[in-house]
Amino acid sequence: MQLKKEIKKITIKDPFQQFTETERVNEMRYCPLTGRVSRVLGLSLKEFASADQTHIIEESKKTCPFCPQLIDALTPKFIPPLKEQYSWGNARCFPNAFPYDENNAVITITDQHYVAIDMFTHDMLSDAFHCAIKFLSDIDPVHYPYQSINCNYMPAAGSSLVHPHLQIIASSTPSSYYTDILSNITINPNLFHDYINTEKIHNERIIGLEGDSSWLVAFAPMGQFDIIGILHNHILLNDFDRYCNTFITYILKILQYMASKQIDSFNMALYSVANNVSFLPHIRICPRTTFPPYATSEINYLQMLHNDSFTLLKPEIIAAEINAYTT
Ligand SMILES: [Zn+2]
Repeated sequence: MQLKKEIKKITIKDPFQQFTETERVNEMRYCPLTGRVSRVLGLSLKEFASADQTHIIEESKKTCPFCPQLIDALTPKFIPPLKEQYSWGNARCFPNAFPYDENNAVITITDQHYVAIDMFTHDMLSDAFHCAIKFLSDIDPVHYPYQSINCNYMPAAGSSLVHPHLQIIASSTPSSYYTDILSNITINPNLFHDYINTEKIHNERIIGLEGDSSWLVAFAPMGQFDIIGILHNHILLNDFDRYCNTFITYILKILQYMASKQIDSFNMALYSVANNVSFLPHIRICPRTTFPPYATSEINYLQMLHNDSFTLLKPEIIAAEINAYTT
């Protein structure tokens, strides 16, 4: 597999260099899985602005429907044949009151109202993932093959609540992400293994090789950076139990690394397609950031209206940093 990119050079008379002609180099990279464009800008790394979230954490705690004093009264219940709610350890699963899809569950990860990005424990995530597996085991994968375990962590990442939680979707219809990959899989059924093998040859973005999964920084990131963990074989998510420990270990490493970069929000998705053995279950984790000094959104017209991602950060530099950080 060729990792496709186009280099674009733009010359300007640069006011920061006494108006001498200066070259900017941008890369248009194409995601090997989806084919979507990600623009890697040749700018120097800016610091991300970590916001003081003390006020929203304290205010939201007073009326939080996921905290122990209100969860019984304010969370919905499933209808038969599902159980009303599911639980595992301290995690609890119930319907999304404002669903995105046919089966859209919410899982509270812990009783604690706020958990800092680097304070999640293995047990917390283990409870949450096992609770998700328990719920998904009661969903018919024939009718709802597009199954994902997702997370918006903190309002800046799209969460309406501070209390840490996952969102599960089991759908009869694919999201655009699935559609893009499934269309590429019809051309190359070995797409995922080809991508992993190509990354192994380049050896610039690999952050972990396990027996069952490969971990890398995305060649064409969907966010400022983008960590991908790919399972080497096709399974249904309700059989995910034995892979949980490895996945949680990597998730925790990435969250620690994000904290070291002053990043305090992220999105995460673990994707699977039950009825296509070529679509390997994989996870993507992206930071959600703003740019100082005005907390400028990282989502601009390019992502919003052109469907292209952009990043200021070279994926290869992120991979080197993560490898240095975790070894
Ligand atoms: Zn709460």
